[in-house]
Amino acid sequence: MRGIRMGRISSMPALAVREVTMRRMGTWQVLARQYATQKEKVVVLGCGWAGFRFIKDLDKDNYDVYVVSPRNHFLFTPMLASTTVGTIEFRSILEPVRTETSKKGFHYINAECVDIDEDSGKIRCKSAIADSAGKEGKEFDVPFHHLVVSVGCLPNTFGVPGVEENAFFLKEVGDAQKIRQRIIEVLELARMPSVTDEELKRLLHFVIVGGGPTGVEFAGELGDFIRTDMQKLFKNLPRNSAKVTLFQSTDKILAMFDKNLSEKAVRQFEKSHIVDVRTNCQVESIDKEKITLKGGEEIPYGLCVWSTGIGPRPLLRHLQQKQGYEMARGTRLVVDDHLRVKGRKNVYALGDCAAMESQPDIPATAQAAQQQGKFLAAEFNAMAGGSDIKPFRFNNLGMMAYVGGYVSLFDTPQLKMAGLTAWFAWRSVYLTKLGSIKNKFQVPFDWTKTLLFGRDVTLFTKSKAS
Ligand SMILES: Cc1cc2nc3c(=O)[nH]c(=O)nc-3n(C[C@H](O)[C@H](O)[C@H](O)COP(=O)(O)OP(=O)(O)OC[C@H]3O[C@@H](n4cnc5c(N)ncnc54)[C@H](O)[C@@H]3O)c2cc1C
Repeated sequence: MRGIRMGRISSMPALAVREVTMRRMGTWQVLARQYATQKEKVVVLGCGWAGFRFIKDLDKDNYDVYVVSPRNHFLFTPMLASTTVGTIEFRSILEPVRTETSKKGFHYINAECVDIDEDSGKIRCKSAIADSAGKEGKEFDVPFHHLVVSVGCLPNTFGVPGVEENAFFLKEVGDAQKIRQRIIEVLELARMPSVTDEELKRLLHFVIVGGGPTGVEFAGELGDFIRTDMQKLFKNLPRNSAKVTLFQSTDKILAMFDKNLSEKAVRQFEKSHIVDVRTNCQVESIDKEKITLKGGEEIPYGLCVWSTGIGPRPLLRHLQQKQGYEMARGTRLVVDDHLRVKGRKNVYALGDCAAMESQPDIPATAQAAQQQGKFLAAEFNAMAGGSDIKPFRFNNLGMMAYVGGYVSLFDTPQLKMAGLTAWFAWRSVYLTKLGSIKNKFQVPFDWTKTLLFGRDVTLFTKSKAS
């Protein structure tokens, strides 16, 4: 932020209309309105881990803040896998962005940014809500003095044919809803009198592609569901008929974890007799009812979840191709150690969509995104007071993952452990990290409900597959 000093900009049009307006309104209201227009406009794209933390920590008196995001809530992603089988309910891990914006006097616009015009200080937005005729959302401009890009990323399909059409992703709460519905659908389908043995085997085969934390945690949750609620509620399905296969393209799952811990995860899955881990397997294509591996092996499935790597949002691809924004590996905007986008003056990027030139190994995690959101808010707060802060440094606090059967992995620089104690630590840490008090009540309530009454298998919407 060095070199850029910001004060309140003058507002001549506001002064010109002041006298006329004052005759119609109370003086206090006029001054309040003028004050609002005189503050510099900060536009924040996205309300994920990075953007939400930024607006939470930003001093509300210094800027006129507009949050633009097609998703009107913050999503606590570390617990998303738990919602796919109903261990936790969807709304328990969501926080409406308006609770934060209204508290601080910020503005929220339910739209997607489709272009940035830095020279004229405007972004082009498209409403996230279609009009009553069902047409696409209308487009409009939003002006800015400072633009904070925290749009995250998309799952990467690596161009594998059939992924978009046939597989499920696990990125947003809508994805988790579809997966949950599909799991229940295949169980109900498997109970149809007309189903052959071969068909039953296919339906009850759950395939997960990608052995990173998301794929592994989903496998753990699904294994728990099959072992407990499925056995209880679908008694007349043949015992041990449901299987989960986790495919990983390299030689080990959870590659970023300590070697002993990733081996512990594999042993835990072996012990479950439900989850089978297959490493060094590359998926060549995905059809409606089968996946094909490199080498030609065909594997029938009832549900396929794709969770491998990250790819760029359409906005970032557009900025790279049409405006020459520099991207790291074609996925993330290159930023300096104050999170300024390379070669741009008033554009910042953080979270999954940003790659720091001086620290290229910062992982695309909630932890890093949140630290960057906190840093940038401190930087903006300091700027408003005319001071600088030190460059961003990532502080690695470690990683955790749940692998099913009350076993978690806890991998921090100080302590590495796996098992029940790690599971308690995993639950406690995430409980304290849940943003709102409402969710801090709701999640333990869901856990207790699941323990006492089991998971809900009600089917009330249709999944993508049906
Ligand atoms: C299932 C799952 C589990 C995970 N578990 C963990 C974990 O345990 N620990 C961990 O550290 N990390 C975890 N992660 C990773 C973590 O969630 C991400 O690193 C984090 O969400 C990145 O935050 P972000 O703010 O950059 O992006 P996101 O959280 O993805 O937010 C992006 C925001 O930008 C909005 N947006 C998108 N396009 C536009 C546009 N064109 N204009 C305006 N807004 C836009 C979106 O609607 C959204 O609000 C997990 C991820 C998943 C999917």
